[in-house]
Amino acid sequence: MKALQIHGPFDVRVDTVDDPKIEEARDAIIRVTSTAICGSDLHLYSGGLPQPRPMVIGHEFMGIVEEVGRGVGNLRVGDRVVVPFPVACGTCFFCNHALPGHCENSNPDHYGPEGGLLTQKGGAMFGYTDLYGGIDGGQAEYVRVPYADFGPRIIPDSLTDDQALFLTDIFPTGYSAIDWGEVNGGEIVAIFGAGPVGIMAAKSAWLRGAARVIIVDTQQYRLDKARQSANCETILWENMKDVVEQIRSMSEGRGADVCVEAVGFEPDRDLLDRAKAVINFEKGSVKTIEACMSAVRRGGIVSVVGVFPTPYDNFPIGQFFDKGFSIRGGQAPVHKHIDRLLDHVIKGQVKLDDIITHHLPLSEAPHGYDIFKNKKDNCVKVVLKP
Ligand code: NAD
Ligand code: ZN
Ligand code: ZN
Repeated sequence: MKALQIHGPFDVRVDTVDDPKIEEARDAIIRVTSTAICGSDLHLYSGGLPQPRPMVIGHEFMGIVEEVGRGVGNLRVGDRVVVPFPVACGTCFFCNHALPGHCENSNPDHYGPEGGLLTQKGGAMFGYTDLYGGIDGGQAEYVRVPYADFGPRIIPDSLTDDQALFLTDIFPTGYSAIDWGEVNGGEIVAIFGAGPVGIMAAKSAWLRGAARVIIVDTQQYRLDKARQSANCETILWENMKDVVEQIRSMSEGRGADVCVEAVGFEPDRDLLDRAKAVINFEKGSVKTIEACMSAVRRGGIVSVVGVFPTPYDNFPIGQFFDKGFSIRGGQAPVHKHIDRLLDHVIKGQVKLDDIITHHLPLSEAPHGYDIFKNKKDNCVKVVLKP
């Protein structure tokens, strides 16, 4: 079959690889009909999260059930499903505590309690490095889905692929940010990053009754998209100080009730910030978390869904203590929210596909990575068709 493999930094190729096969009783094989490129894939693409051997990547996918193992009783050949990106067994301690990203069984070679730099990671994710399970991803014609009796959700025919695809990741991820932010009605929410995840967080904030939704980005065209598709107030990031001041001025000087970090460790940044990182042996930057910590009100919540893989010096722990806010975050517990969110989509209470700017055949996936990473052609979200 054809599948997109990562070969090294900025080197992704559509290769011919072996077709996946049923390996365990609870596996299913899915014929992929739609798959998207995620901001998390860009961390692999840039080499920020290295993957030493070629690997099929991609964790946002949906398709038709082609084959099921004998332990999968809930799916039939021909069912149309979306698949949550965390690979989770459904039976361990963490799966039983609605924390599928921390599954104790899906990543046997690299799992552990430490969560360190190169050791003891969490549960597996589709197509997301050997450290996170080494399980082939879904930017491919076919994909093997472990624990298929727990993850995949059947999608009604009334929904198109584009309407349903983002239930795999970015909608539950944006929703998790807002859920961790304890948005229950009337809050001022400020979101850093108007990429697909930030925009989904904005849509989720409205669903949960926020009073104001402000979004920040370095790219004007992304802010325009956030205004059109999620009715956000927008702030163009030129420097951190001005952004924080604007958010305070929009919240009676106090700061936002909830700040969502949806940029991650590879933000746009100036030379000084880059030099500091080199001196401190740091990869990327935490400055968007620092911006959230300044822009949040005392006693508020900073909710981090952008990816941060490494340690950082000079983390403003004193500010955290003085302001007494909470910080939450991590991989989104997709399985926890997906059914409620599918219901919102079916009822038409939220529209997800209005962020898609590009549909491309899988064969053009390398071009898709280039325009998404480098913000070309006003790219916000790429959907690939195998
Ligand atoms: P993305 O890379 O397109 O979005 C990042 C956005 O941040 C871009 O619009 C970019 O212009 C903007 N940005 C860059 N520097 C900025 C700055 N200094 N201030 C404000 N905005 C800035 O991709 P995405 O798909 O939206 O993903 C965002 C983050 O969420 C990534 O780190 C991704 O890995 C992560 N993610 C996490 C989960 C999870 O489970 N926690 C799931 C999906 C994605
Ligand atoms: Zn993702
Ligand atoms: Zn588990």
